Amino acid sequence: MKRILVTGGAGFIGSHLCEKLIGEGHDVICLDNLFCGSKKNIFHLLSHPNFEFIRHDIVHPISFEVDEIYNLACPASPVHYQHNPVKTVKTNVMGTLNMLDLANRVNAKILQASTSEVYGDPLEHPQKESYWGNVNPIGLRSCYDEGKRVAETLLMDYHRQNHVTVKIVRIFNTYGPKIAINDGRVISNFIVQALKNENITILGDGSQTRSFCYVDDMVDGLIKMMRSSSDFTGPVNLGKPFEISILALAQMIIRMIKSQSGIIFQQLPQDDPKQRHPDITLARSILKWEPIISLEAGLSKTIDFFKENIFCQP
Ligand code: NAD
Ligand code: UDP
Repeated sequence: MKRILVTGGAGFIGSHLCEKLIGEGHDVICLDNLFCGSKKNIFHLLSHPNFEFIRHDIVHPISFEVDEIYNLACPASPVHYQHNPVKTVKTNVMGTLNMLDLANRVNAKILQASTSEVYGDPLEHPQKESYWGNVNPIGLRSCYDEGKRVAETLLMDYHRQNHVTVKIVRIFNTYGPKIAINDGRVISNFIVQALKNENITILGDGSQTRSFCYVDDMVDGLIKMMRSSSDFTGPVNLGKPFEISILALAQMIIRMIKSQSGIIFQQLPQDDPKQRHPDITLARSILKWEPIISLEAGLSKTIDFFKENIFCQP
């Protein structure tokens, strides 16, 4: 049994990760400032003897004796991370520094939830870990993209300078139950709109692509990366190498829900990446990881979750 800290543990991916680690018998500390996460996501774990929730902002130092740190704290939806961009940079830079200092002090392994956004609007396709990216340093997405890039730099510098065991995972678009209904990301927006028979809002002409990974597969990949050999720092891509246009995604969700929704087209936000598709050769060979849940099966579980929750919202 290990003592494991999950920052951002009350968020979407973090809450699934906490559940899985508790299920394996570990002692889990879930730390979250609840900026965009919710106690509802971890409500069922609160009475578990191995689970502890601490409301804390990682921008401020904190100390625990732990063996592993999964650093997931950071708003992931563009709507949320652009709400207070300076805070997003602080979370990624000062927050990651605090978690690295902690890892260094207590000799814990640390896994950083990085992102496909480090590739920006990629000019290479599909994206391999060796690609350095095409990122606008001064745009609306930069607080997130550049914040996550600095976080990767900090991990590698702590590794080289202080010999901290670090693990960098570049997460591609992930979805599933427990995405917040007001999260603002595409899958939750489209499902909520389709269930309410409201117009589906496509930003741009819908030709931009993404590759969507179901959350159970992602959690499996994160844990495999944490347990991989200590000299494997990554970065490693985790995502489902199945690319779909946003228009095709909207049509698929409308069809699955048998919704009466129409589709409307709105202005594409600045720097919205045109194509995204992970090359997961490295994860396959080193972690023996393969996402197994199809988009159709994953959407079906996600739609069921939203059906149960959407109409109970105040
Ligand atoms: P989420 O927004 O649902 O969860 C993030 C959690 O972090 C929330 O509970 C939020 O309250 C918490 N948080 C934010 N700032 C904090 C701070 N300063 N201190 C403490 N807690 C803070 O996002 P998610 O989809 O679960 O993503 C988790 C991680 O994975 C993030 O770091 C994100 O950047 C990364 N990621 C996610 C995706 C995806 O598609 N879901 C893709 C790439 C990367
Ligand atoms: N998008 C959309 N309608 C929405 C929300 C998002 O068309 O209501 C588009 C968005 O412009 C982007 C894609 O869907 O091209 C994925 O957006 P999301 O915010 O989920 O994640 P991103 O991959 O852009 O960080």
